[in-house]
Amino acid sequence: MARFDTVIHGGTLVTAAETFKGDLGIRDGRIAAIAERIEGGERRIDAGGRLVMPGGIEAHCHIAQESSSGVMSADDYYTGSVSAAFGGNSCFVPFAAQHRGQSIDAVLATYDGRAAPHSVLDYSYHLIVSDPTQTVLHEELPRAFARGITSFKVFMTYDLMNVGDAGLLDILTVAKAHGALTMVHAENNDMVKWMNARLSGAGATEPKYHAVSRPELAEEEAIHRAVCLARLVDAPLFVVHVSTRGGAEIVSREKARGTRLFAETCPQYLAFTRADLDRPGMEGAKYICSPPLRDEATQEALWAHVAGNVFDSVSSDHAPYRFDAGGKFLNGADAPYPKIANGMPGIAARLPYLFSEGVAAGRITLQQFAALSSGNAARIFGLTSKGSLMPGFDADIAIWDPEARRTVRLEDQHDAMDYTPFEGMELTGVPVTVLNRGASVVHEGRLEAVRGQGRFVARAPSGQGPARGYRAPEFEAAARYGVEIAP
Ligand SMILES: [Zn+2]
Repeated sequence: MARFDTVIHGGTLVTAAETFKGDLGIRDGRIAAIAERIEGGERRIDAGGRLVMPGGIEAHCHIAQESSSGVMSADDYYTGSVSAAFGGNSCFVPFAAQHRGQSIDAVLATYDGRAAPHSVLDYSYHLIVSDPTQTVLHEELPRAFARGITSFKVFMTYDLMNVGDAGLLDILTVAKAHGALTMVHAENNDMVKWMNARLSGAGATEPKYHAVSRPELAEEEAIHRAVCLARLVDAPLFVVHVSTRGGAEIVSREKARGTRLFAETCPQYLAFTRADLDRPGMEGAKYICSPPLRDEATQEALWAHVAGNVFDSVSSDHAPYRFDAGGKFLNGADAPYPKIANGMPGIAARLPYLFSEGVAAGRITLQQFAALSSGNAARIFGLTSKGSLMPGFDADIAIWDPEARRTVRLEDQHDAMDYTPFEGMELTGVPVTVLNRGASVVHEGRLEAVRGQGRFVARAPSGQGPARGYRAPEFEAAARYGVEIAP
């Protein structure tokens, strides 16, 4: 009889293709067998009445990261990974952020020091590139690829991060050459600055004006522009945190015409509206994130695009800044909205919210949940041994009680925050056990992980999918004149 370290028995297995009753055997950290019945196992986990799913992959979160204005996120790699695990994740990919003047090598060394000793989950990084110098483009980014960091994010907004259109073209071109994927925060910087100036001139500085200051059109215009830039050089693109109906429609249209485009939305855009920024006093500051929360019609449209597979993933964009002077109110307890730290926590709430409002509410199937929570991120970001319940894959598994109902409480988030925007929400479906490479991280709601047990995962070239082979007619024309400018 084959030896198994762990056997999960009696559960309902969820794969990308189907749902069936069966057992799953784990050996040496990998899924070794899936069968109707598996005997033995040094440890047997009873999954009767439960769903056995690929562990979640959180592909958009900010952990132990300084913002460009110097505020450190509340969660480090220990609390961040623990919170992620309690939320049904077995792997996460936070950002490693380059600020202007920093070398990529130094940034990665810093994040290695923050992550390796502390993470309880396997992890990788997306690089944030804010200073695409020639050295960065031609020496440092290729070195980052070589060690398996195959995606990076750029900003079209924020004066201290925005790389400009030419910078974005340079980065897309380098990324394409290495099989990497460029992620983009798409908002029109000048439109936002113009709105800010008008609002501040009118003395409109309370949190609710944050949502006013970043128009839907700022996102729509920037998504369209980013897609055009990516199409010019035929590079793949991933649009993060789409928050508007118009933005989602651009993504839908471009995907239909074959553009190599990926996109996500986040629970906050499905769950909350700009009315939450108008809570009494400074409570609204808890709901300040960018792009901002919109309205109920937008929620419905975004859900329709989640259900219609326009979005590849639903990510938390966990950006934890506490409701105190070390976080949201670094610039004072009554700071004007542009000086309040941007971001909302939600790494533990992402999947319970998506399961409850998606699967339990009948909007998406279990297969879609598996894809949106894990499988698509694994495929898109080159986590080739994760995201699927298949023999040979890492035993990254989340066991869910699909019937359990729970009210969201701060203490169940297990993060370093002093609030959760989801507080009091009644959700159906609870992740009870999470394994990472076969090792128990959370079991029956108790933390069993050892600090530092997570490993860095070198990722395969990301943003795969067939190159369209598109060549802009202007590149062709230049080539005919004997000049090669095409990437
Ligand atoms: Zn983010």
